[in-house]
Amino acid sequence: MFAWIQTIPIICYLLLGLRLGMYGSIVFVGVGLFVFSQRFSSDELLQNVEIIANLGLASLAVMIFAHIYERSRLLNEQRLTEQATTGSLTSQPNRLKLAEVFERERAHALRNGTPLSLVFVDIDHFKQINDRFGHEVGDRALVHFAKVLAQRLRVNDLFCRLGGEEFAVLLPGSKAAQAREIAESLRERLVAQSLTVDETTLHMTLSAGVACFGVDGQSLDELMLAADRRTYAAKRAGRNRVITREEVEPILG
Ligand code: GH3
Ligand code: MG
Ligand code: MG
Repeated sequence: MFAWIQTIPIICYLLLGLRLGMYGSIVFVGVGLFVFSQRFSSDELLQNVEIIANLGLASLAVMIFAHIYERSRLLNEQRLTEQATTGSLTSQPNRLKLAEVFERERAHALRNGTPLSLVFVDIDHFKQINDRFGHEVGDRALVHFAKVLAQRLRVNDLFCRLGGEEFAVLLPGSKAAQAREIAESLRERLVAQSLTVDETTLHMTLSAGVACFGVDGQSLDELMLAADRRTYAAKRAGRNRVITREEVEPILG
C-alpha cells in the first residue's frame, strides 16, 4: 500500500531538479516511512524494522538512480548550451551568447543607470591573408587575433565572434569615450603583436565602430547597426582606426 513512497524520488527529481529534488526526496521519503511505521507497526519489533528497512532501501535505490539520471541530464544540457553559444575555431562566445548577455547587461544598466557600450570589430584585408598564405594560416591568424584582444579585456567584458573575421565587444560600465579608449588600445595591441608563421611575419590591423546604449538605441540590433556603420566608415577612412558617433558624421557627410 505504501509502495508509492518509492515514486517520490522520481517525481521530486523530475519536477525540482538535482538539488531540490534530493532534499525533497529525503524529506518526503522520510515522512512517508515515519507515517507508515506509525500506522502499520505490529507487536513484532523485528518484523517492523525489516519492513521499514526494505521500503527504505528500495526508496534509496530509486533515489540514487533518479540522482544519477538527473545529474547526467544536467551535464549534457550544459554541454549542449556551451556548444551552441561558443564558436569552434577561436572557442569564443557567439552571437547567441551576445544576445543573452546583452539582455542581462541592459537590465542592469537600466536599473543602475550605468553605461553600456558595444564595439564592432572587423579585421582589415583579411581575405588577402587567406589568398596569399592559405586558409589554414588565415585560421591561425584568427586565433592569434582573438588571443591578443582577449588579453586586454576585463572579466565582465564579453568578447565574441559574430562570424568570419567579425567580432563584437560588449563593455558594461563603459561610456562611449571609455569604449573608444579600450577599442583604441585593442587596435594598438594588434599592431604591436604580429604573428609569425613559417618565417613569414603577418601584420594585422582592425577597424572598429563604437555604439552606446541609450544614445544609439535600446536594442542589440540598433547598437549593432550603429557600430557596424561606424566600422564601415572606418574602412572608408583608410582602415586601422576606431570611429565613434562624434566622428562618423563628418566622415560620412
Ligand atoms: P575589409 O578590410 O574590407 O574588411 O576586407 P576583408 O578582406 O577583411 O573583408 P571581406 O569581408 O571581403 O573578407 C572576409 C574574409 O574572411 C572572407 C573569408 O574567406 C574569410 N573568412 C571568414 N571566415 C573565415 C574562417 O573561419 N577562416 C578563415 N581562414 N577565413 C575566413
Ligand atoms: Mg574584414
Ligand atoms: Mg568583414
